[in-house]
This record gives sequence, structure tokens and C-alpha cells, in this order.
Amino acid sequence: MTHSKPISDQLMDYVCPACQGGLESIESGYHCSPCNKSYPILCGIPDFRLSSDRYLSLSDERKKAQYLHDFGREHTLNALVGEYYRITDDVPPNSAKQFALRHMFLMARRAAPKS
Ligand SMILES: [Zn+2]
Repeated sequence: MTHSKPISDQLMDYVCPACQGGLESIESGYHCSPCNKSYPILCGIPDFRLSSDRYLSLSDERKKAQYLHDFGREHTLNALVGEYYRITDDVPPNSAKQFALRHMFLMARRAAPKS
């Protein structure tokens, strides 16, 4: 994981999303002493989520995000989108290609000048 402190550290104080207590900055992110929860800095972004979505555990989501972040540093956006769908277990391979193509189509359409 990336442990560098985000620039937003200099702009605001965070509070624990679980108990609203003050957070202590630690090497790997933030820690709340009152409820003993820790929040990592993931890819330069503090991750204050308390739970995951229904597909992956929070730990697995964080691993996936870090993997995709690292992958994206050495690949194109098209490759990154394809990789995201390729490693997403609940998306069948045929659907993964369609989702990736749709995603790229929508980004291209959004970037195109409006007529
Ligand atoms: Zn707390």
C-alpha cells in the first residue's frame, strides 16, 4: 500500500466516521484511540470506509484498489478498464468485454466536443 500522506492533511482535520472522535495520524494512515479503529491511506487517499460493498470484503477491496492503482501506472486507461473487469469475479468474461467497451465508449463520447 501507498503510505504517503495526502496533501489534504494540511487542509483539514479528519474525524472517525464510527465515533466522531479525533484521529491520530500514524505511519500507515489514521488511528482512532476511542474506538481503536485504524484507517489506511490507500493510493494516496485516506480510506475511512467502515464496511465494504456486497461483493468483496473491505480488505479485498483495498487489495484490488491497490493492484489496479499499480497496474494503471504502467498501462493505458483502456488496459486498466479491461483489467478491472477481468479481475472482477462476478462479471462473466463475455460481459466483462462488453462492459469495458461500453465504459470506453461513454468516456470517448463525454470527451467529444458537443455539437
Ligand atoms: Zn472512532
